[in-house]
Amino acid sequence: MAARRRLTLSFDNGPDPAGTPFVLKELAVRGLTATFFPVGNQLFLPQGRELLEEVAAAGHTIGNHSMTHTVPLGQSPGWETVQREIADMQEMLGELAGEEKLFRPFGGGGHLGPHLFSGEAVEHLTAERYTVALWNSVPRDWEDPDGWAERALADIRRLPWTLVVLHDIVPDAMKRLPAFLDRVLEDEVEITTELPEVCVPVRRGRSTGDLSPFITRA
Ligand SMILES: [Zn+2]
Repeated sequence: MAARRRLTLSFDNGPDPAGTPFVLKELAVRGLTATFFPVGNQLFLPQGRELLEEVAAAGHTIGNHSMTHTVPLGQSPGWETVQREIADMQEMLGELAGEEKLFRPFGGGGHLGPHLFSGEAVEHLTAERYTVALWNSVPRDWEDPDGWAERALADIRRLPWTLVVLHDIVPDAMKRLPAFLDRVLEDEVEITTELPEVCVPVRRGRSTGDLSPFITRA
């Protein structure tokens, strides 16, 4: 018998007062857990912190997705950016961050490439023992609130283990989440909170793959 295909769910750029509670409810009724990658700016908004506390209380994992989510780290070299986007954000997450410190870089539209990291960013993430969580499925829910689910399902059929990036900050797109999850469960895909090796070039500060395609060297 072939190994079951696997799926890791991640929700980025939140929290959002409409999207996040909806996602939490749909995951809870199905007994599913996921990883959330909030952005610092969202935590300054009213309810931001409270929403993230609800995410943590529901048993989901929380990672660091940068403070401002405005410029890919590779396009803004230097320690100042590292301090603000990674270190200050991690401090802001405080105890809501998991024991394994997860960082997901801003991709500027979900793209993988040398823009993701500066040399300084990699140095910091390694020294501070972060796990870097990239992705292998970006169905572009923010651009296509109705059509994303079909693209995500195609990725899940194609890949042995899919790490999908969805956005709880886009409530319109999340309306498709219940039907999407039901299809995945009907297809007997295993939903896990573990991260596939292929999307994790650095695990707890140790290089597990080749990070060079994701670094802009000064
Ligand atoms: Zn993002």
